[in-house]
Formats: sequence, structure tokens, C-alpha cells
Amino acid sequence: MSDEARHQIGARGERRGLMMILSSPSGAGKTTLAARLLASDPQLNLSISATTRPPRPGEQEGEDYYFKSIAEFERMRSVGAFLESALVFGNYYGTPREPVEAALSAGRDVLFDIDWQGAQQVSQRSPNDVVKVFILPPSRVELERRLRARKADPEEVVRNRMAKADSEISHWAEYDYVIVNDDLDESERRLKAILTAERSRRDRQVGLHDFVRRMLRDS
Ligand code: ADP
Ligand code: 5GP
Repeated sequence: MSDEARHQIGARGERRGLMMILSSPSGAGKTTLAARLLASDPQLNLSISATTRPPRPGEQEGEDYYFKSIAEFERMRSVGAFLESALVFGNYYGTPREPVEAALSAGRDVLFDIDWQGAQQVSQRSPNDVVKVFILPPSRVELERRLRARKADPEEVVRNRMAKADSEISHWAEYDYVIVNDDLDESERRLKAILTAERSRRDRQVGLHDFVRRMLRDS
């Protein structure tokens, strides 16, 4: 391998994977934004959560969630299979630990769609590896319109999610970045810019010391 190639690896290859957490009140658009980001970024893995809530029409086991009974969820939690877990809207949700650790140790980044409780738990464990982004709707009226437009939940579930929106929103100031998701393309651009900047942080590029030393020696 040429020195040039080694420089490239030093500068670009050896990077600690980061964990990007998206939280928002239900319906603000995090699933939509996550899908756009994942489609354009092969370096990014989605963390697929386990949940005790029933699947929505069209949701696939292992793609949207791992759908579990309460007993199975509790068993997994008791053996430490979750990085974090929480009760949200009366159902349990948890992040399987093993796929996240495998992705990070391979230098890949992981995207999480989890609530504020999960965000707190993950950032307490790994404060230096977490980037937290809160997605706000442009208004409550628009949030309700989006929850209904999704046509995925019965009326009482929509009402329950609207009732819980204020308490989720009250955690916005615990996040590193906030995006008001009005125009979807603009929100996607902002999210990509955050990821690019966070990947460029000095402390995430573990090969930089060697790269700079070689670069100075060789020139
Ligand atoms: P969440 O994952 O936060 O619950 P979703 O991504 O499922 O929210 O979005 C809820 C609904 O709002 C979906 O029908 C989605 O297509 C729509 N939506 C998301 N972002 C926007 C936006 N910026 N403008 C208009 N509609 C949006
Ligand atoms: P939904 O039922 O609409 O898919 O998700 C409801 C809420 O649960 C959303 O706020 C979502 O971010 C959150 N959620 C999904 N998976 C997890 C998880 O693994 N852990 C935590 N703490 N929250 C989750």
C-alpha cells in the first residue's frame, strides 16, 4: 500500500462510530427523516427496537420492530439484552444491545428513533458517543394533522399521542440539536449537515495523530 493510501485510511477510515438519537412527539416526522437519511448513507445502521405494541398495518417483523410479548420482553430485559428500555404510551420499547455494539465496534454509526427516556439512558452510559437531535413540529395543529394523515392509528390512539405530545416536547432542551420539521427537504439537509459535522469532530477521528505525523514527516 502506498503512503498516500495509508494517509487516506488514517484520515478517513479509523473513526469511532457515533450514536445519533432522534426524538420527537409522535407524528413530528422522525421515522420519515430517519428513512431518508438511511437511504442516502451506507455508513449508517438503524437500531431496530423491540416493542410490546401490536404491529401497525404494513409493519414488518425485524424491519420496523421486533414484536414481543410482555413476558418475552421482560425476559430479555432481565438478561441485560437491552441498552435501554422504557414504557411509552402504555407499551414497552427497548433497544437490543448486541447489534448496536457490533456496529459501533466496526466503526459504523447507529441511528436511534427512541423517546426522551431512552435518550437519557443511552447518553448516561456513553456521553461521548451520542448526538441527540430533537424534531419539533411547526405547530400543534400540524402535529395532529400529521398523526391523522398517517392513517395508522385508531382515533383514541391519536388522541392519546396528542395528549402526551406536550410532555415529550418538554424535554427538547436536553438535546444537542433541534430541527423544526416544517419543510421536509430542509429538515433532511439539516440532519445530514449535523451528521457530517459530528463525524468530523477531532475526537471521533482516532487515526488523526498518526495521519498528521506521517503527513508532516513525508512532505
Ligand atoms: P414520527 O415517526 O415522528 O411519529 P412520521 O415520520 O411517521 O412521524 O410522520 C408522521 C406523518 O407526517 C407521516 O404521514 C409523514 O409522511 C408526515 N410528515 C413527516 N414530515 C413531514 C413534513 N415535513 N411535512 C409534511 N408531512 C410530514
Ligand atoms: P411508535 O409506537 O410510534 O413506533 O413509537 C412510539 C414512541 O416510542 C416514539 O417516541 C419512539 O421514538 C419511541 N420508541 C421506539 N422505540 C424505542 C426504544 O427502543 N426505546 C425507547 N425508549 N423509545 C422507543
